[in-house]
Amino acid sequence: MRNDDFVPPTSRPGPRRRPVFAAAALAGVCLTATGCAGDGGQGPGAGAESASRPATSVPSSSSPSPSPRQSSAAAASPSTGPTSARPLPRGPLTGRTVVIDPGHNPGNRDHTREINSQVDIGTGRKECDTTGTATNSGYAEARFTLDVSRRLRTLLEEQGAKVVLTQDGDRAYGPCVDERARIGNKEKADAVVSVHADGSATGNRGFHVILPAAVNGGDADTSKIVVPSRELGVRIAGNFVRVTGSAPSNYIGDRTGLDTRNDLGGLNLSTVPKVFIECGNMRDPEDAALLTSAGWRQKAALGIAEGIGSYLKR
Ligand code: ZN
Repeated sequence: MRNDDFVPPTSRPGPRRRPVFAAAALAGVCLTATGCAGDGGQGPGAGAESASRPATSVPSSSSPSPSPRQSSAAAASPSTGPTSARPLPRGPLTGRTVVIDPGHNPGNRDHTREINSQVDIGTGRKECDTTGTATNSGYAEARFTLDVSRRLRTLLEEQGAKVVLTQDGDRAYGPCVDERARIGNKEKADAVVSVHADGSATGNRGFHVILPAAVNGGDADTSKIVVPSRELGVRIAGNFVRVTGSAPSNYIGDRTGLDTRNDLGGLNLSTVPKVFIECGNMRDPEDAALLTSAGWRQKAALGIAEGIGSYLKR
């Protein structure tokens, strides 16, 4: 298990926030054939909706000169600003905003009541969030998604993009799927990508990109994003194949690497072009060997970044 993004719980976060979570493995979660794309309906809802402003688990910093990411930002605010104190370089993506949504949260498993609370996704109600899956050796999807998202942020910022993460290991749990969507909307993002890895049966391999279906109900109206989201998704899938060498899923999407869903609040509530990507199947040993490799995760981030760049420069 290459836990190279693991930060021991006893370590103190520096000025740049780092995730703090226990090493205990997740197991036996999110095994549905329809994947673990954040909105999976698992278990009944419970409790009042109280997850929109969760308390933070991140200690406040004593640094005299906090980074832009820290300054005055409540823990529940989306994480924005360049990864360093330096201004963004000018580049081909200057002036563009990309929201990256790291699926799930390492703390979700300790907040089952909160994440099981129901939220309105326009077309119905669904759990606030889910725990996500894990490899058989205990590498959690929530850690994978954060790691790839941070790598992706760095790559996009190098090209001048403004990048906002919906969470950066700076929340105790969540955010809820409706808030994840609204962060992209509020930022008027040019593109949003929700990063995941699947939890399907052994032998099911490969990646797939999930596109929003046309839905209309309550606050959900994807009529304006279906076409651009497909364009974004096709470009991400093509670049993901090229950069990682991974094949499109052999169990979803008829080997196109594309799937369309109408049950994900994170897509249904989006008013800006948005897709999910399931980078591989954590429950398959061969895929897991890739997903747990830092070198492969860098390739995954690069493939996604090149897809986003291709879409934004078209
Ligand atoms: Zn997921």
